Amino acid sequence: MASLELRNVSKAYGDTPVLDDVSLTMEACEFVAFLGPSGSGKSTLLRIVAGLETPDRGEVWLDGSRIDLLPPGARGVAMVFQHYALYPHMSVRENMAFGLRNAGVARDEIAVRVAQAAGVLEIEALLDRKPGQLSGGQRQRVAIGRAIVKQPRLFLLDEPLSNLDAALRTRTRVELAQLRQRVEAAVIMVTHDQAEAMTLADRIVVMSDRRIQQIGAPMQVYSRPANSFVARFVGSPAMTLAPASLLPGEGGFARVRLGDGAELDTRVARASLSGDGAVQLGLRPEGVTVTGPGAGTTNARVELVERLGDRTLVYARLADGAAVTAQDEGNSRVRLGDEIGLAIDGAAAHLFTADGSGRHAEPGA
Ligand code: ADP
Repeated sequence: MASLELRNVSKAYGDTPVLDDVSLTMEACEFVAFLGPSGSGKSTLLRIVAGLETPDRGEVWLDGSRIDLLPPGARGVAMVFQHYALYPHMSVRENMAFGLRNAGVARDEIAVRVAQAAGVLEIEALLDRKPGQLSGGQRQRVAIGRAIVKQPRLFLLDEPLSNLDAALRTRTRVELAQLRQRVEAAVIMVTHDQAEAMTLADRIVVMSDRRIQQIGAPMQVYSRPANSFVARFVGSPAMTLAPASLLPGEGGFARVRLGDGAELDTRVARASLSGDGAVQLGLRPEGVTVTGPGAGTTNARVELVERLGDRTLVYARLADGAAVTAQDEGNSRVRLGDEIGLAIDGAAAHLFTADGSGRHAEPGA
């Protein structure tokens, strides 16, 4: 049975539309990330599922029951907020028990659930402390604990890691991934951090402009982005898009000419593109390597060299001004201002049509 289903959900605040006909079906126990830039409607969608906002149109179903007409507490969902507020005068144990006591759950049952959640989160030793005696990461775990004790069918996490510093964020991300194995429930996490979504989610729902742009497994979204927005938003550094034109040809694969005149054979089916018009050539750094001038597909001028230790990212510009990011070895000798060659792997190239929709290498080509 599908766990959550959104059917044609739309929402506006006054005259401003925020969600436009959003539909989504989640599998049981699936971890889905809503990923998109700030203002793309992710939190509004989450709040509609939680019952904190009412959709103007559309329905929300959980495990076969319509829930969008139910009050938040009756939906079987639990939300962990970005700015989780623990009660400072209560112990961790009391913080976790509070919601259950309000809901009239029996004392013994509360004790069992709090002990179980503390075990899952490995915070047994902290149960008698006050929030002020905890680190940021520990407080975050208590906030998740408050959701776990409710035994929801669906967890809703709103930017759960954004309050943490960089090191703690990475560690908590790992903990969240491990925690996920121990809790039998579906999870929706809202994030604007593509690395977080790639690491944690079974599927990513990429949102922009009030709509879902693509739904897919992390590597599917990364390797076969539906459109140029997704291509640029998922992956760091971003995919570069260079203007190119489709060359007429009989072959099965598209051949393109870049703005600087260089030509490239892709593995994108020619038949998936109509006419011989303008396209954009999408390249990720792993598909472009640095060579000597004149030895690659084309030449470029180096604008920035980013040393990552094991490899070097070279941000360069073609003669027509198009930006391309290339990869070089760790101890690259490339310097700012150098004229270099770029060897472009046609099998790793993506093409985007005039309306922005993506075309990718044929699988196995
Ligand atoms: P995200 O979570 O992707 O950053 P939100 O769902 O928070 O996006 O917001 C989507 C849009 O709706 C934004 O333009 C935001 O300003 C607007 N918005 C959100 N909440 C309200 C509100 N209560 N009243 C009016 N506009 C709102």
